[in-house]
Amino acid sequence: MSTTPITPESTPQGRTPATTGDRSGLPMEALRREFPILRVPVRGRRLVYLDNAATTQKPQSVIEAVARYYFRQNANIHRGVHYLSMEATQAYEEVREKTRRFLGARDTREIVFLRGTTEAVNLVAQSYGRPLLGPGDEILITHLEHHSNIVPWQMVCRQTGAILRVAPIDDRGEVVLEEWKQLLSPRTRIAAFAHVSNALGTINPIREMTALARAAGAAVFIDGAQAAAHTPIRVDEIDCDFYCVSGHKMYGPTGIGALYGRLELLESMPPYQGGGDMIASVTFEETVYNELPHKFEAGTPNIAGTIGLGKAIDFLQEHGLERIAAHEDALLDYGTNRLREIEGLRLVGTARHKAAILGFTVDGAHPHDVGTILDQEGIAVRAGHHCAQPAMERFGVAATVRASLGIYNDKDDIDDLIAGLHKVRELFG
Ligand code: PLP
Repeated sequence: MSTTPITPESTPQGRTPATTGDRSGLPMEALRREFPILRVPVRGRRLVYLDNAATTQKPQSVIEAVARYYFRQNANIHRGVHYLSMEATQAYEEVREKTRRFLGARDTREIVFLRGTTEAVNLVAQSYGRPLLGPGDEILITHLEHHSNIVPWQMVCRQTGAILRVAPIDDRGEVVLEEWKQLLSPRTRIAAFAHVSNALGTINPIREMTALARAAGAAVFIDGAQAAAHTPIRVDEIDCDFYCVSGHKMYGPTGIGALYGRLELLESMPPYQGGGDMIASVTFEETVYNELPHKFEAGTPNIAGTIGLGKAIDFLQEHGLERIAAHEDALLDYGTNRLREIEGLRLVGTARHKAAILGFTVDGAHPHDVGTILDQEGIAVRAGHHCAQPAMERFGVAATVRASLGIYNDKDDIDDLIAGLHKVRELFG
C-alpha cells in the first residue's frame, strides 16, 4: 500500500519565495515547498512563522514517516516475535544509530530516547545527581537558563541538601565567564548550561566551559534544545558528559528527544523509571535491570515519534547544518539591522556570538499586544517570558517579543515583521 501524500487544504499563496540572499546556497524555493504548513493561509494571509524556538514546522518527509508507521508498521517493539514488531524494532533502533552519528557519540548505548529536553534534565538530576549529591555539594548553572534547566536542579538540591549556584550574565546576555570560573570549585559536582539560550539567543562557549568544569571535577550537562537545528554538534569533541535535544525543535515530532550520556556514567546510574522494557528479569524478590540504553526507556516509547525524529535528522543532514547556520546567521544580521530601524525598539540579548533569535520590547506596547497585532498580519511570534523568567528579570522586563528564525525563513519574512512593527508603532507610538 502506498500512503496518499498529506497536503494542506489550501493552495500556495501567490508569492515567489525569496532566495536566501546569502551565500549559504540553500534552495529556498524547493525547501519551503517541503513544509506543507507554509502553504496554509493564516488569517487570510501567508504564514510568516517566526516561532521556531518554541517549536519548528515539520517537513513532509517527517509527517509521512509518522503516518507511514501507523499505516504500515504499527507494532510494539523489542518483545515481539512477529514480522511487524521486528520491523518496527528495526526502524526504531536505526534511529538510535542515526542519532548517535548526528550527535557524534561513540556508542549507541549512549543514546537514550525520551520525551525531550525537559525529561532529559529530570533524568540526569534524579539518576545521576540524586545518588551523588549531599549537603555542601554544588550545582552550577547560569542566569540565562530555560526553566527546565533550573527547576529539576532546584528539586534535587532540596532532596539532597546540595546548593544551586548561578553564574551571572552581562548586559549583552553573555555568561560572565570570569565569574562562572570563580564559582567552579571542588564542591561543584555538576555544571549545567544551555548551548544556546532560547530567550536571548546567546551561544555559550560550551567547549571552554566543558573543559574548565571537567578539570574542576564536575560533570557537564548541556541543554542543546536550541542548538540541534542550527549548528553541528559533536559530543565527542565537546567532551561533555550529557547533552540533550528535543525532536520538535529540530523539525521532528513532539514528545520525542534524545539524551547523550557518557557510557561509564550511564552505566553507573540507577534507572529513572521502573516498568516494562527496562528490566532483564523480575521476581518479587529481585529485579535485574536491562542493559543500556533500555535501562532508561521504561514502558512503550514514542515509536512513531522516534521514526519521525530519524527523518528530521535526515532532513537536517540533507541540507547541511553548516549551510543552515550560514543562512540563519545572514538572516540574523539582516533582522537585527532592520529591527534597529524601529523607533522605541530595544533588543534584549545582543551577545557577540548569537543564534537567530531576536528578542525585543517596543516602548509603550506590551509584548502581548505586539504579538496580537502581528498575529493579525499572519505573523507568528512569541510574547512572554519564554520560560526564562530569571533572564527576563536580569534585563528588567517581565516579557519580550521573540522572533526566532528557522531554515525556511527568508528576508521577506523579516520585511513582513518590520512592516507589522511599524503598524504597532502607529497604534502605540
Ligand atoms: N531548554 C531550552 C533552551 C528550551 O528552549 C526549551 C524549550 O523551549 C527547553 C529546554 C525544553 O524543551 P522541551 O519542552 O522540548 O522539553
